[in-house]
Amino acid sequence: MLRRQKTGSVLCPSCGKLVGVQDKECWNCGRRNPGMWGFSSLLRKLGNDFGFVSIVTWGCVALYVATLLTDPHGIRMSGMSILEPSSRSVVLFGASGAIPVFGYGRWWTVLSATWLHGNLLHIVFNLLWIRQLAPAVSELYGASRTVIIYTAASIAGFLLSSTAGLVFGASPIFFLRGAALTLGASASIFGLLGALVLYGRRGGSSHIGGQAKSYALILFIFGFVMPNIDNYAHLGGFLGGYAAARWLDPLRPERVDHMIAAIICLAATALSIIASVYTIRFA
Ligand SMILES: [Zn+2]
Repeated sequence: MLRRQKTGSVLCPSCGKLVGVQDKECWNCGRRNPGMWGFSSLLRKLGNDFGFVSIVTWGCVALYVATLLTDPHGIRMSGMSILEPSSRSVVLFGASGAIPVFGYGRWWTVLSATWLHGNLLHIVFNLLWIRQLAPAVSELYGASRTVIIYTAASIAGFLLSSTAGLVFGASPIFFLRGAALTLGASASIFGLLGALVLYGRRGGSSHIGGQAKSYALILFIFGFVMPNIDNYAHLGGFLGGYAAARWLDPLRPERVDHMIAAIICLAATALSIIASVYTIRFA
């Protein structure tokens, strides 16, 4: 199953050129340890994203089912909102917003909320976007940097919308209010779009950049037209993804420390969900 390759050659995970599995450095792009301790070809079988799209898809589906099952009597149906888990169960698994973050000190929910969804249409819509965008970002940035961008966008998006919820929560202008309670992968989706826009501006491909910009604009406007959309999370997610992408620079090859950072991001996210469940206190 998990067999290490000790001889022969593999494709460099950064540039795709053939390198020896034991090579210290890629002869073409200079990436250190291109054979990744012999696991390079195994990871490559999972696709450019090293299986991240599947992790997100199944993680979100499992958590959505869990939020439904923990409080089946609380499930609501209203109009477009089909199979909506109760507020109690989304808070249990780590929904974010001004109430959890500032009211109950559950600051780590800025990581967990991007894995939770508020109804059937919400999760289907978001997963379709992720399956469209994440492979493209993985192709340009590599799997590890995609994970970092995805996580940074979640943190920035939910931090902005929770803070806006605290500061402007009572504003008479409803679209300024921010979120008391918020969840969903769209902050991260906007982060992926931000990364694609940055790629275009950095000189990678103006076609990709231009397309991402129009997607982001359409989705952002869509957010103002539809009810109950967290526009601050969209804006913060876009800015967070853009800033992370700029810092990571898509025109430079992915490095081993990016992979370590990506593993830390995934571990911290898993911990944030565990912490949410274990620290809950319902009155
Ligand atoms: Zn290389």
